[in-house]
Amino acid sequence: MPDHRLLKSLLLKLIAYYWLLMLIGLYFDEISNTLLVGSLIIILVNVKEFVDVVNWIWHSPHKRDIKDNSYWGYIYRGVDKSIKANRQRRKQLIAALSQFREGADALPDGVVVFNQDNAIIWCNSAARKFLGLQWPGDRGQLLNNLIRHQEFRQFIIKGDFNQILELPSPHNSSVLLEHRVTSYGADLFVMTSRDVTVLNHLEHMRQKFVADVSHELKTPLTVLNGYLELITDQEDLEPKMWLKATGAMKVQTKRMQQMVEQLLTLSKIETSSQTIVTVIKIQELMALIKDDATVLIGDRDLSINFVDHSDAVISGCEAQMLSACSNLVSNAIRYSPDGSTIKVVWQRVNNGIEFSVEDNGLGIESIHIEHLTERFYRVDHSRSSQTGGTGLGLSIVKHVLVNHQSVLRIDSEVNQGSRFSFVISDPIAAT
Ligand code: ADP
Repeated sequence: MPDHRLLKSLLLKLIAYYWLLMLIGLYFDEISNTLLVGSLIIILVNVKEFVDVVNWIWHSPHKRDIKDNSYWGYIYRGVDKSIKANRQRRKQLIAALSQFREGADALPDGVVVFNQDNAIIWCNSAARKFLGLQWPGDRGQLLNNLIRHQEFRQFIIKGDFNQILELPSPHNSSVLLEHRVTSYGADLFVMTSRDVTVLNHLEHMRQKFVADVSHELKTPLTVLNGYLELITDQEDLEPKMWLKATGAMKVQTKRMQQMVEQLLTLSKIETSSQTIVTVIKIQELMALIKDDATVLIGDRDLSINFVDHSDAVISGCEAQMLSACSNLVSNAIRYSPDGSTIKVVWQRVNNGIEFSVEDNGLGIESIHIEHLTERFYRVDHSRSSQTGGTGLGLSIVKHVLVNHQSVLRIDSEVNQGSRFSFVISDPIAAT
């Protein structure tokens, strides 16, 4: 009801009430006493209503049946309405807060809220996992007491949060965490802890790769530079020396070219998310491997046997498969002395079709085997550069096999020979 209408009805009721009192007073000839008693009755009734309202507000606001149309009823309804509105607002706030907490709890980064005394106010489940915190057990505990790493304690106590702190997780030392703290509100702070193990590993790999490539290019460039200086310094260079210089420069440029080509192949294989998969006929693939091997053997005294009695097919990328197989055959040729025997076989095995290259050449010491597929890894640098090796061949094989859900198996014994093999699963029987 609008305020002015309430006031008007209240005044009308009072006027009517006092008119009635006047009439009663006139009738009994006791006007002043009647008005006094009437006023006292009004005061008492209103004092009682006032006490009732106070009791109702403080003790049981929801129980009262609010129906009467008096101005006290108007007060009851007003208070009741604002209580209900408050209750609704509180419900909405609680729902919003729990939604926010659920969201923060689902974050992959650890989140810890703490105050200026470093006492923990809240933490999400990733923070519990990364930092070994307990919730709600650690509520109110000091962050710098719970995480005892010296550098971390200094970071929190010093409060210079412009820095980013990188430390191993106190819970699992193989996980590297990056901590950032931001202040908000009057005296609150939020710390986010991100798992940067993979990023860090990638960064190290990138740095190592740049260092390796620079190192690999340094030797051929130094040789080229040396001969170029010799040519420019000595105007009347003997034809024999000219021949030696150009021959050596040719070898080094070929080496660099081969390295760049292999790096490009590797990068293409590593980044090819959509490998073109076709049906590869083993016999056709073997013919291509044979062609490559024949060119490489040239007039060397090596006996090489190709066995592909499985008239099978596999599914995969033909260009990548040829690159992997040819790399393995090329290694067997390059690391076997004249008079050796090499066997290249495609055969059915229990879990698919196996490709293997076996030689009775130099063999490899067991400590090197797990590193052979790393970029630029060579067992013997001098021997590898004599044979034209770049240390990238087995890396290429490894990545091709990753793209074909397979792994390279290496069995080798020094001076006995080596066997490199892999299995391509799920073969489709040739029709
Ligand atoms: P590279 O271009 O140097 O041959 P790879 O990645 O193909 O590089 O091979 C890595 C190293 O593994 C080679 O440097 C060589 O020492 C060794 N290796 C590979 N295949 C054979 C093999 N069949 N016999 C002996 N050693 C081998």
